[in-house]
Amino acid sequence: MHPIIENINLIKQRIANACAGCGRRAEDVKLLLATKTVNAEKIRIAFSAGETLMGENKVQELKEKYEDLKSIPHQTHFIGHLQTNKIKEVLKYVNCIQSVDRIELARKLNDRLAFEQRTMEIFIQVNTSYEDSKFGIAPEQAVDFAQEVSRLERLQIKGLMTIGLFSAEQEKVRKCFELLKTLQHEMLDKGIEAHELSMGMSHDLETAIEEGATIVRVGTAIFGERIYPDSYYWNEK
Ligand SMILES: *Cc1c(COP(=O)(O)O)cnc(C)c1O
Repeated sequence: MHPIIENINLIKQRIANACAGCGRRAEDVKLLLATKTVNAEKIRIAFSAGETLMGENKVQELKEKYEDLKSIPHQTHFIGHLQTNKIKEVLKYVNCIQSVDRIELARKLNDRLAFEQRTMEIFIQVNTSYEDSKFGIAPEQAVDFAQEVSRLERLQIKGLMTIGLFSAEQEKVRKCFELLKTLQHEMLDKGIEAHELSMGMSHDLETAIEEGATIVRVGTAIFGERIYPDSYYWNEK
């Protein structure tokens, strides 16, 4: 069996175990393949194992892999920092943008979608770890922000996304996920249909599932270590 497929099976097992441990159903947690730096050939192998959801961080990579993957039914989410000058381009390649984190971006996305006469599913990205290196709206502003975004007709809020604190101490990481869930409940109370929680990666997916993740985003544990540090993908430079 190809190592990528073996790794996917291991991740599925981790998801199933985590769900069993907290009384959730494994089918309620979707696996998103975080495919930054991974070539189309490897992504095809993952799709051949039955996976159907991928996430990219850079518009350039979306573009490079698009032709090679378009014949295989799948969904693509954008999970990286989105610059407003890339909006027109990103809309050619994705089904959902998980990283909406500022009003200027939301408004410009909405304007472009109106021009194209279409709509887009989005997630609100929240900076639950308060680290400067991470994008996302500040937790204190997240509910107001979601209300503003919910008034933009072309954007459909599906849920919230966060990147947990990078720490070996799972209880600190858990605080981030708890915070996202708390914000979600405040939004649901206000009638914002943010039912999905996209949280949890290779090293913390169990904690995220225990806190209610409906999408876990996994790269390294499936495709191996990347050469570039993640900060390269999370910064504008
Ligand atoms: C790279 C990335 C992931 C996956 O991280 P791994 O540690 O490789 O599993 C998840 N979410 C985002 C936003 C990413 O950029």
